[in-house]
Amino acid sequence: MPITEVIIVSSCGECGTEIETFTVKKDNMMLSTKELAWCSKCQADRPQVRDVAGRLEAIENEQQSYPKAVPAEPFHGKTPSP
Ligand SMILES: [Zn+2]
Repeated sequence: MPITEVIIVSSCGECGTEIETFTVKKDNMMLSTKELAWCSKCQADRPQVRDVAGRLEAIENEQQSYPKAVPAEPFHGKTPSP
């Protein structure tokens, strides 16, 4: 099954407080918006910053963790001489 929906987190452009989370069809994904959103922390309408919080980010993190796991092994069992 192809991934057709992604989770989008909308945050306040001023203070970074999460305003809302919603899912959109990947085809309709729009990360930039000129709409203002109400920020409960700023108590004002703020420009939103949207980011993908769903599967796309999870895959990125997974890929980044691979190179770290490999170089750790050659050091195993090596003890420095006194
Ligand atoms: Zn804010």
